[in-house]
Amino acid sequence: MRSRQRMFAAVMRLLLKCLRLGPRGRGGAGQLWHYGHLCLRSLLYNSFTNGDVVLDSLFEPVYWLVDHITRWFGVVFVALVIGLTSSVVAIVYICLLPLILQTYTPAWICWHLAYGHWNLIMIVFHYYMAITTSPGHPPQAKNDLTGVSICRKCIAPKPARTHHCSICNRCVLKMDHHCQTAWLNNCVGHYNHRYFFSFCLFMTMGCIYCSISGWEMFRDAYAAIETYYQTPPPTFSFRQRAFHKSVVYLWVLCSSVALALGALTLWHAALITRGETSIERHINRKERQRLQKKGKVFRNPYSYSSWDNWKVFLGVDVPRHWLTRVLLPSPHLPHGTGLTWDLPPCVTEQHAPLLAI
Ligand SMILES: [Zn+2]
Ligand SMILES: [Zn+2]
Repeated sequence: MRSRQRMFAAVMRLLLKCLRLGPRGRGGAGQLWHYGHLCLRSLLYNSFTNGDVVLDSLFEPVYWLVDHITRWFGVVFVALVIGLTSSVVAIVYICLLPLILQTYTPAWICWHLAYGHWNLIMIVFHYYMAITTSPGHPPQAKNDLTGVSICRKCIAPKPARTHHCSICNRCVLKMDHHCQTAWLNNCVGHYNHRYFFSFCLFMTMGCIYCSISGWEMFRDAYAAIETYYQTPPPTFSFRQRAFHKSVVYLWVLCSSVALALGALTLWHAALITRGETSIERHINRKERQRLQKKGKVFRNPYSYSSWDNWKVFLGVDVPRHWLTRVLLPSPHLPHGTGLTWDLPPCVTEQHAPLLAI
């Protein structure tokens, strides 16, 4: 009996030894084991442990998963956007363009070639700029900025219109939103807001263009696909079948993106007209309601006239900028540093709002 007990104790000791020693030499897994062990001990031996601490600790793996997996989502979606856009461009060149060249008049051919290529250049330029341009961050060091609050997470000065992005884990100047899962895998803020909006706009225009230009071809291809299952089956070659399917894919993808992205673009256009970012819309609405109850009127200090808001957003200081900065790819910087909000040079004095709310 005693020898059995001794053997059992020896086995348990060995097991405990393995558990203690094993994870140390295994890098990531070892760290995870150590972390879990610490977490459990802090829960059991901590006199401050309460329901919140236990819940937070239980959700810790979920936070970790969300944080790590959504980072990859962004990369996957960027690859998806590039892949889908490239496939559409390839189908346009292989299927749509030869037909345009064969059947259209020279004037229409010129228009299609000029418009299609201009639209494509604008999409590629603005997408590249939107994903590679930093939205801008406030300086972390001590500075002379006035009228700033303190970010509780960065423990650093937070200028007006700046917000803390929990995904970037940094404060972002004139933050609009963090565009992670859908298109950019980047934060949209002061320095890349124009690129983001222009990309949405030109992508919508490109999809509408493809949907309208390819409508006739889509109808024919769709009708041809419907005959595939007739008896006797039609004698389409592999090339013809691939052509039909590509045209249907092009039209369905372009018209769906045109609808979804068109709605998003209109929404952002409405915000730009009002001189607000997506975040400020919620803040201003609350402030408007709060002041309304007191019988006061809220005025957005960063909004000028609708027309001036667009000029400030697009960086149009003189009329020729409509051509050079809006209709052509332009890497010009937005007005100001995003730290202070002085009156932009293109805004006429009478449209300037009162800076007091
Ligand atoms: Zn912050
Ligand atoms: Zn962000």
